[in-house]
Amino acid sequence: TTAARRALIAGNWKMNLDHLQSIALVQKLAWTLKDRNFQSDTVEVAVFPPFTDLRSVQTLIAADKLDFSLGGQDLSAHDSGAHTGDISGSFLKALACDYVLVGHSERRANHSETDQVCLAKVQAALRHSLTPVLCVGETAEDLETVGQSAVPVAQLTAVLEGISAEDEIVVAYEPVWAIGSGTPATAEQAQEVCGVLRDTIRTLHGDEQADRTRILYGGSVKSSNIAGFMRGADVDGALVGGASLDSEEFAAIAQFE
Ligand code: PGA
Repeated sequence: TTAARRALIAGNWKMNLDHLQSIALVQKLAWTLKDRNFQSDTVEVAVFPPFTDLRSVQTLIAADKLDFSLGGQDLSAHDSGAHTGDISGSFLKALACDYVLVGHSERRANHSETDQVCLAKVQAALRHSLTPVLCVGETAEDLETVGQSAVPVAQLTAVLEGISAEDEIVVAYEPVWAIGSGTPATAEQAQEVCGVLRDTIRTLHGDEQADRTRILYGGSVKSSNIAGFMRGADVDGALVGGASLDSEEFAAIAQFE
């Protein structure tokens, strides 16, 4: 991490917690961070609840003036109309979401989301003034056949080619083999790939976007390993799955302990 970019610690709840449980977790998280005297000026904390929880979490954040950013886990590439079961970026914006995940490996794998679909979703997010958190990362097989950086760079490139250097995005480098496996990348591996991703932005869109874009690491992040990741100059935060469901653990991650 570097002082030039505000760190972002993001909790991806995936398909966990109903709206009542989501309220309980956000309340506990707020108390825990307050208890620990958490300083939010250098670290932004964001939560990504399931769609059905968003209204409850948004209401709680507003009522208690909590310093949490909010995001959806997915959005439609379309703005409205005959797309049963899909959620428009405009609905997320109306619920005061700041962010939306795009191209999480579980969406790519379970819903056949290609790079073209991810680009269309990133463009939809930008149309609605949401900051897309584009997830990229290689599988274990990719790692063996083409190495660590090739696939995440290709996934990022496919999106950068369809947006402009002025657009604000967040990139999350999440090696698929590290997600939910208990085997995170090493801090060195994470820094190396995040550095290559930043170079990719620099080459395609120039210094300004490269220097301003936050690049997160994700995949088995815990309070016991976050400090190492955050020491990487190009690692600006973390996208946290399992460990974001425990308020003590997630609060400790937000403090990089
Ligand atoms: P994990 O998930 O922290 O449980 O490995 C990360 C993610 O999928 O975003």
